[in-house]
Parts: sequence; structure tokens; C-alpha cells
Amino acid sequence: MVEEKIPASGRELAGKVALVTGASRGIGRAIALTLAGQGATVLVNYNGSKQSALEVVSQIQAAGGAARAIGCDVSDFGACGRMVEEIVADYGHVDILVNNAGVTRDNLVARMSEEDYDHVMDINLKGAFHTIRHLTRYFLKQRKGKIVNISSVSGVAGNAGQANYAASKAGLIGLTKSVAKELAGRNICVNAVAPGFIETEMTQALPQKAREAAVASIPMGRMGSPRDVAELVAFLAGDRSDYITGQVICVDGGIV
Ligand code: NAP
Repeated sequence: MVEEKIPASGRELAGKVALVTGASRGIGRAIALTLAGQGATVLVNYNGSKQSALEVVSQIQAAGGAARAIGCDVSDFGACGRMVEEIVADYGHVDILVNNAGVTRDNLVARMSEEDYDHVMDINLKGAFHTIRHLTRYFLKQRKGKIVNISSVSGVAGNAGQANYAASKAGLIGLTKSVAKELAGRNICVNAVAPGFIETEMTQALPQKAREAAVASIPMGRMGSPRDVAELVAFLAGDRSDYITGQVICVDGGIV
């Protein structure tokens, strides 16, 4: 007879330590607030936006949660290693890794510079490899862990003008599925979330025409909110998703 787990309501992530990359703004910020709201201690990673990261931390603390800002450029392999060592030294363990840090440098492929291609790949794809590579040894020792990689519908279906970005996000799906297979035997779940068009600074930067075309392509007729993505990430980070690994789940209002 399988014992039924009765989910605790509200604070399902109590006692867990979560690292969220790129949590100073947008979707990462919403993920940090949601995980903290469910009881996790959250490491709010940032690169350029220290002040915004500190505001996220203050907001979590004001609501009675625990958080700390931690600066690190995820495209730097050594810096990611130092960030992980610092967290493990201070908290003793890490239970949840959310690879959310990401950038765009959109252009048609015929005009795309090598620098813009490499920049996007280095942060969006290699950055996730860096944190996974450094944290995996602790997850393996614990025989437990949750990794959630923030991909994109562009990585699932492609998108004109985003060859670099779509390649990085499709690569993230391959990374997710491969690492999921490697780590499944140790009770470590690795999944990807693929948002569609979500209202953040990233999409606010789109020209008006592109925004209108994007909204017109959404069957639900509206853009999503960072919270829509964060709710799924919280589920994948908690114990209720313990038998789900290697999946890509779209949060896209029906696009894919
Ligand atoms: P955003 O508002 O532009 O925020 C990006 C975040 O990434 C910021 O917190 C930024 O931190 C961080 N970041 C950038 N480069 C970094 C680096 N080298 N090291 C560490 N952090 C870095 O973007 P968003 O819309 O919230 O997107 C978040 C994630 O969702 C990205 O991976 C994006 O590709 C993905 N996504 C977004 C959408 C959408 O419609 N918005 C759709 C699909 C997927 P600093 O400011 O501190 O540098």
C-alpha cells in the first residue's frame, strides 16, 4: 500500500534553500517571492541590478521570509563555483536551483554578429550549465534536489529574429532532458518551464508592432504575468512533483 502524502498548505518549501538566478527583476523576482512565500530561504542572484535585488530581499523579509542577495555573472564558470561554495558554507545545503537568468540580443540571422550570438549563449545556456555543474555534487550527496530551467516557447518552436536566443533556449531543453536522465537515480528532478510572452522589461523592450503581433499569436489573447510562471516553478520545486522529471512545460496561453 502506497502511503498518501497530505500536502501541507501554504508553506510547502519550509526548510529548503533555493538559488534563483536573475532574480533581481521580472520572472526571476516573481519566482523568488513565490518560493519565499512558501517558506524557502531564497538566494536572490543578480548581475547588474544590485539595488533591485536588495529590494526583492527587503520585500521577502518584510513579509516574514528569509532571503539574501548574491551577485554573480552566471556566464563566469569560476564565479558560479564561488557563489555555490559561499551558499553551502553559509546554509549547509541547497535544495532548489532555478536557472532563470537570461538575455536577448535579437536580430535577423543575416545581420547577427558573432558577439551577439555568443553573449546570449554564454548567459542563457552556459550559465545554466555552470550552476548545475557546481551544485550537482551537493545534490548527489543529498540524494535529493530540484532543478528548474527557464527556457522559452522560442526554444520549443523557433522564432524569426531570435536565432541566438531560440538556440540557447532549445539547448537548455537538451541540457534539461540529459541531466534529468543522469540524475534521476539519485532522486533529483530536472525540468524546464517554457514561458510564452510574459509582461516584463524583456518584452517591454519589443517595438509596438512586434508586441501587437505577439499578442495576436496568443490563443488566450493576452500576455502572461511573471506570477503565472512562478506558480509552476514553485510546484516543480516542491515535493508534490517528485515523480516528474525531464519535462518541458509551456506557460504560454496556448501558443505551442
Ligand atoms: P528581465 O526582466 O530582462 O530580467 C532578466 C534577469 O536576468 C535580470 O534579473 C538580470 O539581472 C538577469 N541576468 C541577466 N544577465 C545575467 C548574468 N550574466 N548573470 C546573472 N543574472 C543575469 O527578463 P525576464 O523577462 O524576467 O526573463 C527571465 C527569464 O525568462 C529569461 O531566461 C528569459 O529568457 C525567460 N523568458 C522570458 C519571457 C518573457 O516573455 N519575458 C518569455 C520566455 C522566456 P541583472 O539585471 O541584475 O543583471
